[in-house]
Amino acid sequence: MNRRQLAVVACLIFCCAGVAGGQSPAGAGTLTVIRAGTLIDGTSDAPLHDKQVFIRGERIEKVADATAAIPAGAKVIDLSSATVLPGLIDSHTHIFLWGEDPAKGGYDANILKAGIALRAARATFAVRRALEQGFTTLRDLETEGAGYGDVEIKQAIAEGTIPGPRLFVVTRAISTTGGYNLEGYAPELDMPKGAQLIDGPVEARKAAREQLDHGADWIKVYMTHRSWVDRAGNLVSQPTLTVQELRAIVDETHGWGKKVACHAYNGIGMQRALDGGCDSIEHGLELTDANIAQMLRQGTWYCPTIAAYYGDWAPADTPAGRRDRKRAEVHEPSFKKALAAGVKIVYGTDMGGIDWSEPEAIDFDYMVKFGMTPMEAIRSATSRAAAMLDMQGEIGVLAPGAYADVIAVSGDPLKNINELRKVRFVMHNGAIFKNDLSK
Ligand SMILES: [Zn+2]
Repeated sequence: MNRRQLAVVACLIFCCAGVAGGQSPAGAGTLTVIRAGTLIDGTSDAPLHDKQVFIRGERIEKVADATAAIPAGAKVIDLSSATVLPGLIDSHTHIFLWGEDPAKGGYDANILKAGIALRAARATFAVRRALEQGFTTLRDLETEGAGYGDVEIKQAIAEGTIPGPRLFVVTRAISTTGGYNLEGYAPELDMPKGAQLIDGPVEARKAAREQLDHGADWIKVYMTHRSWVDRAGNLVSQPTLTVQELRAIVDETHGWGKKVACHAYNGIGMQRALDGGCDSIEHGLELTDANIAQMLRQGTWYCPTIAAYYGDWAPADTPAGRRDRKRAEVHEPSFKKALAAGVKIVYGTDMGGIDWSEPEAIDFDYMVKFGMTPMEAIRSATSRAAAMLDMQGEIGVLAPGAYADVIAVSGDPLKNINELRKVRFVMHNGAIFKNDLSK
């Protein structure tokens, strides 16, 4: 690294530390104290009451009782009638996806009708929308044909050009020939694809290397693609990568100290995902007992993205409609079995597939209906997701040393989890982004 590169890195570090996504900067020495009537810290089983969170710069200095003295000159934010929580983490989003409504051209319109500048503008809207709803970290699981745009949106947030959450990005994602959209066009046409398609372990490893080289924090792989209901009434999913192809990707990615997220519904593709060493299973619509036992053995994370499969069903008497209903039908028992077995479940929505105008807290309701306690559901979007992201103690928790990602709601999310749809205070990296509670 030469001196000029060093200067650039130093500037980036300074910018990240001082300015969080275009919000008012929190100076390194400034002390802010948040009075919290109820405090859910992201790790404890029970809420705490009458606490004060001391924040210096972008980090939490300490969490103290309400009686602790506040030094002169400190800025005090009174949230004593609110519930204060760590900033939320959505482990499955698509900031470059703008819905898949058939009336608006479906998935394909995202790629065929929008140029890269429009897509970047929409991604800018999406990250702001996430942050204003209290999601201070996203694991964004591929750009759907927008190349390495996620790396640059992340850069724009870090340099303070646009407001947005902390991003973990995967860039282009990987599937196989016949394993991703756009499809269904004349075979003579060389259509763009929403993922990087590979065939064989050599191409697989090369794609992972390219994506990691260009800034991927994780690698995303599609292990199943089409799905349908067979004559016996079972959900069947077309597998994509072979175990050998996946192993090349996992081996390469783990060598870089990074992890692999695998889209997998069920069946052959799910088995290959587990045998190939995926770190997280995305969707996991139909998990067998053997799948669950293997996930426990291997420490695999499960990001179920439930809500995405419970809306926008095709008409009942069509193949797509039967598939949509079957997917939801098998998802609930899979989630319940995984929960009972102690699989590590993280909160994820698939926002982008779901319209960004919908509440990002949309999945909590399903998780609680399917048997999670509200506190477990909150942990799936805080400390548990932080552990998956190798950020344990840094995000998803209100504790000394953690980044000051702090949100608040006026009601009690342990009584009604949907209170999380009404986040009224958002602080990210120590900078206040939104405050409708205490002026
Ligand atoms: Zn997705």
